[in-house]
Amino acid sequence: MQTDTMTATSAQTHVQSPAEHISSNPISLPKPLTAQMQQDVRHNWTLAEVNALYDMPFNDLMFKAQTVHRTHFDPNYVQVSTLLSIKTGACPEDCAYCPQSARYDTGLEKERLLEISKVIERAKEARATGSTRFCMGAAWRNPRERDMPYVVDMVKEVKSLGLETCMTLGMLTRDQAIALKQAGLDYYNHNLDTSPEYYGDIITTRTYQDRLDTLQNVRDSGMHVCSGGIVGMGETGDDRSGLLIALANLERHPESVPINMLVKVKGTPLDKVDDLDYFEFIRTIAIARIMMPQSFVRLSAGREAMNEQMQAMCFMAGANSIFYGCKLLTTSNPETHEDVMLFKKLGINSHQTKAYSDEAHEAALHDEIQLQQEQQAVPSDLFYDASAT
Ligand code: SF4
Repeated sequence: MQTDTMTATSAQTHVQSPAEHISSNPISLPKPLTAQMQQDVRHNWTLAEVNALYDMPFNDLMFKAQTVHRTHFDPNYVQVSTLLSIKTGACPEDCAYCPQSARYDTGLEKERLLEISKVIERAKEARATGSTRFCMGAAWRNPRERDMPYVVDMVKEVKSLGLETCMTLGMLTRDQAIALKQAGLDYYNHNLDTSPEYYGDIITTRTYQDRLDTLQNVRDSGMHVCSGGIVGMGETGDDRSGLLIALANLERHPESVPINMLVKVKGTPLDKVDDLDYFEFIRTIAIARIMMPQSFVRLSAGREAMNEQMQAMCFMAGANSIFYGCKLLTTSNPETHEDVMLFKKLGINSHQTKAYSDEAHEAALHDEIQLQQEQQAVPSDLFYDASAT
């Protein structure tokens, strides 16, 4: 199978449109694993080893991470996903960082499950702006059985557009995971959030083992696993190491590893937690890259507060995936055109950024305005009420 990595380098002679790129490369992959590269893939990391990586001089750590990155990936390719909230707020869980929890007064407007046609419109926009993966998130503890036919149809429709599909719907049973896989879902996101030791300070309504069980159900179904965590939640250095160990010591590494910087939202219990030093965040990206060399490490929430230089440093540390779009579920994210400009400055995905013309940008903007106008006129019966019991 041809990989995205190969396409990124071979595209210099043929400038692909974003849509062309997607249709010929439905699944993002690292370089094929050779026996030499296999040595980098370990599942027996210890706390002492990982703490020693955190203690390395910064330049040495960056060099090591970049070396691993270049061995396993095209260093100038960054996979782009778009994330859409398909059901917002009113979540019964108590994740201390999350504005979507019904337990915290964050002023967030809750929304019912989005109608499939609206999801498809958003997916088409994402495809037009160069995203290769479309992620759909619902603020649920877990999908109920009566929700399943609806989300299964949603997956089928998005998949038919030639996009990679990803969902995050909370805990999944084995049967639910199989049903989503059969519908064409490529990835399921379920984060471990933090270390097993710190977890109880952040969430009390489900256990670490619940999360591991869901990841196992996803893995057993044959879907790709997307799992990472959040740093800057007041955890210790050992906790950051512990999170990476929990991920890297899974039987198979998650194919996608989102590393989030906490976005402090007023009204949540973590609103006033101390800021994490940005260099500690970059180190976390670099160490994730070293520990999970074949995984896409995603620079996720918190990117809006990072300047271009900080983001470039994260790419140097081995981050090779981002979310496009102005919103990450409910918190803001850099505008798509800012990302395109940054990619252009850094020579990332040059075949894609060249193809992303002003005309294409204008067309996407026009579609966005039209969509917003239509949404204002949307009657409420176009929404499926997922929060109703
Ligand atoms: S992170 Fe997910 S499960 Fe936790 S409160 Fe937010 S929406 Fe609910």
